[in-house]
Amino acid sequence: MAQVHLTFDNGPHQTVTAEVLSVLERRGLTATFFVLGKHLATPWGLDLAKRIRDAGHRLGNHSFNHETPLGDDPGQHVVDRELTATQDLLDQVWDGPLWFRPFGGGGKLGPHLLSLDAVDWLIDREATCVLWNSVPGDWLDAQDWPDQALADAERLEHDVIVLHDILPEAMTRLDVFLGALVDRGHTFTDGLPADCLPIVDGAPQQGLERFVSRPTPGAAP
Ligand SMILES: [Zn+2]
Repeated sequence: MAQVHLTFDNGPHQTVTAEVLSVLERRGLTATFFVLGKHLATPWGLDLAKRIRDAGHRLGNHSFNHETPLGDDPGQHVVDRELTATQDLLDQVWDGPLWFRPFGGGGKLGPHLLSLDAVDWLIDREATCVLWNSVPGDWLDAQDWPDQALADAERLEHDVIVLHDILPEAMTRLDVFLGALVDRGHTFTDGLPADCLPIVDGAPQQGLERFVSRPTPGAAP
């Protein structure tokens, strides 16, 4: 039986986020929304972020553009553009703890997730870096992703699931999925397992280096 922490990435989305919020409200659940700066930079995006906050959910930074994983795109200018610019927008609506989730391309974990510059930024800002352990692929299979998600919940004690509140078709399955979790005796939590947190309030944790790319020694600058 798992404790499940729900996360929704890459939004907010003009129509899908509102639907996800109403499903969560009906079920009395809270989640974490890792949002993109490029959406917060629109008037509707910032409005939706306020609705997410006002409904009692958490907001986190998930980069501005979500293009090249930070470990594959090192440099301070990237941190400014992707992390600081998003955080400046997020700060207008969110005064809770600074949570950041890197993106991996298909949900893969590895040193491509973070650059040394990104790590410095997270430490400076006393941020918490939030990874995941369940990526059921809602963008790959809009109909059957709950099967994979339920299998993950069977396997895990503390499940941090990545879903996307930008997928109109896949998110029509959200309520059925949440019902199936409840039926099988799983519960929901706002907590996060230590093995999904390589940085906590700016403090590097054991294993952080597995998620940070380093310049190759001897390579041209
Ligand atoms: Zn993402």
